[in-house]
Amino acid sequence: MKKLYDIAIVGAGAAGMTAALYALRAKKSVLLLEKLTPGGQILKTHKIDNFPATPGLSGAEFAQRLRSQVEGFSGQFSYANVVKITTDDSASAPLFRLETDDPDVSPVARSVILAPGSAERKLDLPEESRFIGHGVSYCATCDGAFFRDKSVAVYGAGNTALYSVLYLANFVKKVYLVNHSSRYKADKSLVEKARSLDNVEFLENTEITALAGAPSLKEITLKTVDSAKTSSLPVSGLFVSIGRIPDNAFLKGFVDLDSQGYIESSESCQTSRPGIFCAGDCRKKLVNQLTTAVADGAVAATQAVAFLNSQS
Ligand SMILES: Cc1cc2nc3c(=O)[nH]c(=O)nc-3n(C[C@H](O)[C@H](O)[C@H](O)COP(=O)(O)OP(=O)(O)OC[C@H]3O[C@@H](n4cnc5c(N)ncnc54)[C@H](O)[C@@H]3O)c2cc1C
Repeated sequence: MKKLYDIAIVGAGAAGMTAALYALRAKKSVLLLEKLTPGGQILKTHKIDNFPATPGLSGAEFAQRLRSQVEGFSGQFSYANVVKITTDDSASAPLFRLETDDPDVSPVARSVILAPGSAERKLDLPEESRFIGHGVSYCATCDGAFFRDKSVAVYGAGNTALYSVLYLANFVKKVYLVNHSSRYKADKSLVEKARSLDNVEFLENTEITALAGAPSLKEITLKTVDSAKTSSLPVSGLFVSIGRIPDNAFLKGFVDLDSQGYIESSESCQTSRPGIFCAGDCRKKLVNQLTTAVADGAVAATQAVAFLNSQS
């Protein structure tokens, strides 16, 4: 493997692979570093209905097509977890070394695009991962349509949870909003609107302690916080809406992060450090979807190419 690249990209999700496409077409040498599988989060969905011009495409197919497109331009993938990025400022232009969990993989690049995405905050129940894609979802907009005329639960108390409830209530039979307290972080108007709907029921001071069903989710176990009384609730879907965790811990101190750990960046996807750009769910922004991830990838790569060209 070559050791010095024009651009190293951390994360081969939709954002990272799109950035690779743009950089490769600008004739830059590019290495994509991926700790798991190219594709990222979108691999978790069976069907994408909201990406323009590709209705019904599965997440796996989307990822495979994008990966083939990158490979068609001779993009290189390396499978390693980036744990640290260091800078060598002694040269006339900065060089960045990417340290990984594989001692044989520590490339140096003249510019870096950070695209490590974000991870869902989980309930942390032992059986949770088994039901992902089989009843448990972290995205009502993405997966809600699969639960038409069924009963579902949403767990959370913030705006995302309430938006999920209002969205789902349009076409599911019943939505239970499960909240571990009786307080809401969501806007009051959203809570009031949800309370006014006939097919929405609020279950407050209640926690979810178990999930059951085979092969798909059939019921969840609830426990009231005050009395520890348990009961089971038959639902086909559970939307966990307790926030996301950016996968940016390895970047602390290297680029500016906001209080929740998202990368601070400008409209041009420039981070606080010259030569380092970011794209996708890792950065602070309003909408975390494929459309915005690929848009960021295009912007970050275009800006990284301009940065490199300005130095030569
Ligand atoms: C179940 C589900 C369904 C969804 N459905 C839709 C939908 O229908 N439509 C839509 O528009 N959006 C949907 N989304 C949202 C969409 O998938 C994301 O917004 C988008 O994929 C984000 O892309 P990304 O490249 O920024 O991040 P990610 O997809 O998270 O990719 C980041 C990649 O970086 C890798 N990585 C992380 N840290 C490191 C590291 N340190 N070193 C090396 N590699 C690293 C990860 O393994 C991952 O592959 C869905 C999300 C989920 C979870």
